[in-house]
Amino acid sequence: MHGRDANPGLGVMLWRGFTKACPVCGRRDLFHWERMVADCPRCGFHFERIEGHWIGAIGINTIVSFGALLLTVVGSMIVTFPDFPVKTLVGLSVGVSIVVPLLFYPSSKTLWTAIDLGMRPAGPNDFERVVQPSTTSSADTKAS
Ligand SMILES: [Zn+2]
Repeated sequence: MHGRDANPGLGVMLWRGFTKACPVCGRRDLFHWERMVADCPRCGFHFERIEGHWIGAIGINTIVSFGALLLTVVGSMIVTFPDFPVKTLVGLSVGVSIVVPLLFYPSSKTLWTAIDLGMRPAGPNDFERVVQPSTTSSADTKAS
């Protein structure tokens, strides 16, 4: 099962994206430390679909990081009401502000790719590597 003509559905693609897998085929191991491979090793999907594609990933990472910071601040203030330990709360907030964006960075890229695929489904030009060009004739005509 190659992902070339696969349509896993939006929910599956979002879950794969959230868990750092290829949204098209589910392949993992797409990252070497923080660096993402350009093309999926299994299905050949080219992740950077257009120039500026990763702006969406930065946006998602920003939303998730600020959401985590908001939950941290509000939650810790509720728990410690009415005597707020200001130094502890500031330290906790700074820690969340540093750790969450770093940890979520890989997921933000694959999750954004899944959302982008939900808006603009993959076409034949999104696959850089043709795995077996001689056997794709019927699959290519059905995929469009
Ligand atoms: Zn793939």
